[in-house]
Amino acid sequence: MTRGQRKPKQPKYQRAMVVVAHADDAEFGCSGTVAKWCKEGMDVVYVIVTDGSKGIDDRTITPQQLASMRSDEQIAAGKILGLKDVRFLGFPDAYLEPTLEVRKAITREIRRFKPDVLITTSPTRTLTGRGYIGHPDHFAAGEAALSAVYPAARDHLTFPELLAEGFEPHKVKEVLIMVSDKPDFWVDVTKTITIAIQALAAHVSQVGDWDAEKMLRRWKRAEGKKRGVQYAEAFKRFVLD
Ligand SMILES: [Zn+2]
Repeated sequence: MTRGQRKPKQPKYQRAMVVVAHADDAEFGCSGTVAKWCKEGMDVVYVIVTDGSKGIDDRTITPQQLASMRSDEQIAAGKILGLKDVRFLGFPDAYLEPTLEVRKAITREIRRFKPDVLITTSPTRTLTGRGYIGHPDHFAAGEAALSAVYPAARDHLTFPELLAEGFEPHKVKEVLIMVSDKPDFWVDVTKTITIAIQALAAHVSQVGDWDAEKMLRRWKRAEGKKRGVQYAEAFKRFVLD
């Protein structure tokens, strides 16, 4: 390397996992970050905890048809983003609770993929704003994911049946929680906002005629303003010992 040449920037981590309740949750909250990480060469996988079988007004579509449509849409979004894989855990949509069964299923995925960093949703209802009260599945998925990171994925004596399946313990180094209130970590997504919008548009059954692009740009512009960049995504960050 000659003087003045800059070494290509290596990503801090190699492997990332996003754990969310529904197909499309990640596209609303963190797909600009995911697209950025994929472009930087990180391996990123999604874990979708529910089957997405409830979220539609059209009464002619059966829950099974909807679940199948939504998993196809998530796979299409994943291709746009450059994901390595999308795992569907298949728990019933709208009924999710942070049970030991859900925690174990997420722990299995963490031990399988061994992410350095994991993104999930907030485990608590915050009641900020006026137009959205939050979805119980989001809190349940967040709680189960955090409990899977610590201590279940880390400790070999927790869920010993996973060890018997060949899944060795794994320590996640960092957790980012998608939050709209009291964030303390921002990712500049100015260069990947277009990919994030395309990935969101792949969720046809959820987005429909709704101008999701306008909303996504407005949210991420507001976060970008706080950091002096055009677009950003906000998180609460935990660096684990
Ligand atoms: Zn959702």
